[in-house]
Amino acid sequence: MAPAEEPTAATTLELAPPPPPVHFVIVPLVAQGHTIPMVDLARLLAERGARVSLVTTPVNAARLRGLANHAARAKLPVDLVELPFPTDIDGLPPGIENIDQVKDNNHFVPLFEALQKLAGPLEAYLRELPARPSCLISDWCNAWTADVATSLGVPRLFFHGPSCFYSLCDLNAVDHGLHKQTAAADDHDKFVVPGMPVHVEVTKATAPGFLNAPGWETFWNESLEAMRTADGAIVNTFLDLEEQFVTCYEAALGKPVWTLGPFCLANRRDAEAMASRGNAPDVAKQNTVTAWLDGMDTGSVVFANFGSLARKLPKQLFEVGHGLEDSGVPFLWVVKDTEVETPDVHEWLEALETRTAGRGHVARGWVPQLAILSHRAVGGFVTHCGWNSLLESIAHGVPVVTWPHFADQFLNERLVVDVLGVGVPVGAAAPVMIFDDENVAVTRGDVARAVSELMGGGEEAEERRRKAKEYGEKAHRAMEKGGSSYENLTQLVESFRRSGRKES
Ligand code: UDP
Repeated sequence: MAPAEEPTAATTLELAPPPPPVHFVIVPLVAQGHTIPMVDLARLLAERGARVSLVTTPVNAARLRGLANHAARAKLPVDLVELPFPTDIDGLPPGIENIDQVKDNNHFVPLFEALQKLAGPLEAYLRELPARPSCLISDWCNAWTADVATSLGVPRLFFHGPSCFYSLCDLNAVDHGLHKQTAAADDHDKFVVPGMPVHVEVTKATAPGFLNAPGWETFWNESLEAMRTADGAIVNTFLDLEEQFVTCYEAALGKPVWTLGPFCLANRRDAEAMASRGNAPDVAKQNTVTAWLDGMDTGSVVFANFGSLARKLPKQLFEVGHGLEDSGVPFLWVVKDTEVETPDVHEWLEALETRTAGRGHVARGWVPQLAILSHRAVGGFVTHCGWNSLLESIAHGVPVVTWPHFADQFLNERLVVDVLGVGVPVGAAAPVMIFDDENVAVTRGDVARAVSELMGGGEEAEERRRKAKEYGEKAHRAMEKGGSSYENLTQLVESFRRSGRKES
């Protein structure tokens, strides 16, 4: 019998088990506008061979079940991790686990307090894993994850959901003390946001800031601290859209800023994934909307939808409906179930649908927005300027009517109108909070004028359409092999593959 051969270096290498995949643990904030992009990010990472665990609570996990099944069918290594929602939180009714379930402003702070209590269960879950994850990616509002990452020695990136333009305004406002100036100002005083590469003016009401209202001081300070102590930031944008702001943000932050978007294009080749974003798909509704759009001319329809949180009370809702009707433009309008709770509103809406039959379609509740924006018939979008909505529109070459409601939306509006040149402002000047019925911020005349301007002919309208189309093409290129976001994602994953992973 011949003696057994000594293994050579080459055969040893061949036999060595492959290195474990890079493992990202993602912790979104429990709000649709924060969770949806992070789910898209999970998919993007998994498509590059990384393993991804998405951490959430039972009510939110139920909404993501379709995604989990879909990932499994596509053989993508994405798993859902369900942490039990803390019980007995003072001032929070049971069952509320997502910001879109809050119907009383007093429940917001207790909801955030409850989320902080997830730190213990998250740490326990991570300690039980056979190996430490490569990196924790958490929403910047989930500052409670910072101590967990530190105690396990795991790198942490924060995800900042708005435009990079907004993120830079926000950081500069803090660093240069803008909030102290606006606090003492009159409502109409104007301020220039310091440190911006372009001129940006705000009022007290539209100044950057999130979680910085009275009562939120602890969360605000902890969030700022968690951003400063993170290893870097991930933003949902692309260089051809916001390069100058990305460069300044990276310099101001003093750490890497990874631009990996538009995340929504993760779904571009997958109609099923597009339709189930955010909620389980309602196939019947989807088919009705698609059939209606299929019957309309290319680029002829204006789509109106205001995100997952903004809720219009009747007075304001009526102005939107009449404005769309008066514009004379074919429209697809999304009305939330919570906006049609009384028989009066119900009747009014039915009458509007009858009057505009053939050129108007009202969809109730959640719709597959991304699929709608990618439909050839949609030529304009009336949006509240949530960053996901804006970016989804830009990524599909659709110009917008801008109607900011709160938070980052007023500055996102400045970006798309003043810098990118793809928006017509409806004229909203001050924030309208979710449950505010006192003011009708925007009239039917405002809506009709802005929609007609957006959808009409003329040089300015054509130029807006041309720019939007160009940004849409650039967005797609950014996500293809060789594009900036694609290559950034490769580098991000590779950087963790190289640095290896600490064992438990
Ligand atoms: N969205 C959707 N269907 C709806 C309403 C919203 O798919 O009927 C999605 C939309 O495509 C976007 C997200 O919900 O991805 C809303 O995020 P955004 O930042 O625009 O606004 P927010 O809801 O945070 O105010």
